[in-house]
Amino acid sequence: MTNQTIVLRPKAIGCDFDFTVSYFVGGIDTITKPFTKRGISHEIAMLAEQAAEERGFCLSVYLEEIEKIAGWPFAREVIEPEFRRWMAKTIRTYEDAQHAFEFWRTQSLDVVFITLGNKEYQLDKIAMSQLPHRYAFVVDRDEAKWVHINQLLQAHGAPVVYIDDKPEVLDHIRDQDKAGEVITVRAMRAESPYHKAPARHTHLEVSDLTLLVFEGDA
Ligand SMILES: [Mg+2]
Repeated sequence: MTNQTIVLRPKAIGCDFDFTVSYFVGGIDTITKPFTKRGISHEIAMLAEQAAEERGFCLSVYLEEIEKIAGWPFAREVIEPEFRRWMAKTIRTYEDAQHAFEFWRTQSLDVVFITLGNKEYQLDKIAMSQLPHRYAFVVDRDEAKWVHINQLLQAHGAPVVYIDDKPEVLDHIRDQDKAGEVITVRAMRAESPYHKAPARHTHLEVSDLTLLVFEGDA
């Protein structure tokens, strides 16, 4: 097989969630539907979505932001089931991620999600993905990802692989990882908002997680 990237067999794998293993079918814009059909313009609903993203997106934060602009409240018991249907219909796991995670499980490799955002919402999405993993850590800022990667190093030893679609996160890990114990891998996903973002450091790049091959498996 071509384009494989062969790296040292890691003691554990850390992995981001959004746009590394999952994406939104048809983009995130359809999230405004429950509100556009209730008199809010799509533009306003997207502005509220971005404001919610900055606070750590989840439905209740999103509702707060929409209500701030709209000036009237929405019934949680009506919006919540609609939102959950939207999640089930829209959030998809990349097929290569399913294969890679399944393979890593057969290798008894510990895989840990390290993801940014609202805890409840992130854990919900991870559970829905059904990807086999050991733990999931939800952090409130990108820099905090290093804390958990460092814990993986302490618990399992080096090297550890860490995969993310956001170059800034990978760069920060390179800055912190003085001993060079983390293999940073950039998931090149066309759907990622960071797809074209520049990186300060060199990271391995894969467009498909099954192309990341560990020594001995090649
Ligand atoms: Mg991401």
